[in-house]
Parts: sequence; C-alpha cells; structure tokens
Amino acid sequence: VDSETNQLRRAYSEAAQLFHHILLNTQLGESALAYLQDRGLTTETIEKFQLGFAPQREILVAFLSEKGFSQQLLIKTGLFADKENGVLRQRFRGRVLFPIRDAQGYVVAFSGRTLSQDPKVPKYLNSPETKLFNKRRILFNFDLAKSAIRQNGFALLLEGFMDVLSAYQAGVQNGIASMGTSLTNEQVYLLERTTEHLCLCYDGDKPGQNAIARALKLLQPVTRLKLNVVLLPEKQDPDEYIQKNGGQAFKNLVTKKQQTKMSFWMTYLATRHNLENENEQLAYISEVLEKIAQLTEPIERDLYLNQLAKRFSLEKSSLTKQLHLLIRQQK
Ligand code: ATP
Ligand code: MN
Ligand code: MN
Ligand code: MN
Repeated sequence: VDSETNQLRRAYSEAAQLFHHILLNTQLGESALAYLQDRGLTTETIEKFQLGFAPQREILVAFLSEKGFSQQLLIKTGLFADKENGVLRQRFRGRVLFPIRDAQGYVVAFSGRTLSQDPKVPKYLNSPETKLFNKRRILFNFDLAKSAIRQNGFALLLEGFMDVLSAYQAGVQNGIASMGTSLTNEQVYLLERTTEHLCLCYDGDKPGQNAIARALKLLQPVTRLKLNVVLLPEKQDPDEYIQKNGGQAFKNLVTKKQQTKMSFWMTYLATRHNLENENEQLAYISEVLEKIAQLTEPIERDLYLNQLAKRFSLEKSSLTKQLHLLIRQQK
C-alpha cells in the first residue's frame, strides 16, 4: 500500500486508541462509560471492539499534530468537520464511538452515537467516505465474524452496531451489519467468498420488516446465497431481545428458528391484507403464488402450495393450475 494509505491507517489507529483511553480511564468518559455499562456491555466487550468516547472538548487536532501528522493529512481522514477561522474542528463531539474496521482489521471510520435524548439530534453519525472508507464495501465486524461465519455455516445480518455487539457478547459471533443502509452488491460479494448462507435478523418493527422485504427482493436476483430470516417479537431489536431474554435464548432463536424466505413472505404479505375480506384473500393468494413461482425446487413449491390450500380450504389442483398460468404469463 502507498504511504498515504499507511498514514491514514495510523491516524485512525491513534484516534481510536485516544478515544478508547478517554472512555475507559478518564473523567471525560465517565458518563459515556456508565451509559454503555447500563446497556449491559462488559469491559471485555468494550475493549474487544475498542469503543471510545469523543468529548465535546477539542482534543484531536492537537493530539494528532503532536504525533506528526500534517494538516493536509488530517483533512483527508474525515475526522474533522468544518474549519473555524482556519482551525480544524473534530467531527465527533459528545458521542460514543464505534470503530469501523475493514476486512483486514484496520480501523477506517467511526460511527458515533449521541448520548442526547433529543430526537432532533441524529442518533448515529458516520465518518464521511475517504480513501480508506467506502461504506458500500464495508461490513461492520466482518473481520472478527469471519471465522465464526465459517464455523457456523452462515452469516447473521443485523441492523445495528449495538445488535452486533450484544450478540457477540452473548456468544453469537457471526453477526455483521451494513452501514445503516441496504446490503450492497459489494458486501454480498464479500460474503459469498466466505459462506453460502445468509440469515437476516432485523428489528421486529415495521421498518425492520420492510427492510427484510426490500433486502430479499434486492438480493434474490444477484446472489446464490441461501437466504433465511429470523423474526423477532414486535418492537424488539436483537439487542433488546438479548437484554430481555438472555443470550442463550437468542442463540436458540438464530440457530433453531430460522425461517425460509418463502415463509417470511407468507407472514409479511399477510400483514398487508385484511384476510377476513374475500377480495383481499384473493389478492393475498395471488401475491403468494407470485413468490412461489420464483422458487426453483418442485418440493419447495409443493410445500407452500399445500400450506395455502389448507389455510384457505382450496383444492390444490386449482392452485397448481393458477400457478402454471402465472408462470406462462411471465414468460
Ligand atoms: P440503539 O440501540 O443504539 O438505539 P439501533 O441500532 O437500535 O441503535 P436503529 O434506530 O434501529 O438504531 O437503527 C439501526 C441502524 O441504522 C443503526 O445502528 C445505524 O447504523 C443506522 N442509523 C440509525 N440512525 C441513523 C442516523 N440518524 N444516521 C445514520 N445512520 C443511522
Ligand atoms: Mn430500527
Ligand atoms: Mn437498539
Ligand atoms: Mn434497532
């Protein structure tokens, strides 16, 4: 790698160490540390993920300049926002920092969580894109999760950083997250080199369910990854589920309660219809049939046709007929 890349890596490494030190060992970090402990994170986890705290106080320019980094390089790190009177100001203030590492384990960015309860303050703030950080290519925690992904035979895609940390602490170490966006083709490519199986475990709220639907639609045409889904109780995300039910319960959920994507569609599409109404029943049945038409294995198709037939007291032969009509139309 070139010397600028090296310098940027060094700057991020120094910054991560500084913020981590502030969190664990100084008075400036006390309230942030209490916040994280309150959320159930152990010191071991805080150290493993090198969590940090960026105080309000201006601290980073002096620290990094002292270490010999030029002003020009500091600008390229993205760690500084606007200049005020020609002086750099640190981007992250009063935020808990989650270092984002690349696949090789180098810190390449931060995501900072506010401690403020004010809904007008953005909850998470990310580093901007830099030479080191392309958010389309980074999967949070992929470097640490890789061996567990291989061992367990699947990757577990979670929504947030806290979900990944809580899961990791609970012994579910194959968890990864995208950077607050849908999974990109680049991230899928990274996963495909490591596993054949991806399980989506998003928040159990409406946005989470819609995000699963969007992800499945997006992923299906571009990947050979086998896709499964784990559904959480309403209004819980993986972190909250673990706080409430314990790590072992979460482990059971993700190892024993994975649903097929078809099973997810049947549940999800049902929530969008009033199935007491016959028009809506018919609409629901055709939407499910459209999903069944995309399945490639005859046995899979048969399984879900049987479920539909049973649920709505239909002859399976008429469902099959309708399915074939649909497939013919699509050609
Ligand atoms: P916490 O448990 O700390 O409240 P969360 O992970 O449950 O956080 P969600 O609101 O469920 O937060 O959002 C999921 C993910 O989406 C976050 O982890 C973060 O990556 C991203 N995200 C949330 N809010 C923002 C924001 N304002 N800007 C950018 N990304 C965000
Ligand atoms: Mn959410
Ligand atoms: Mn959460
Ligand atoms: Mn959440």
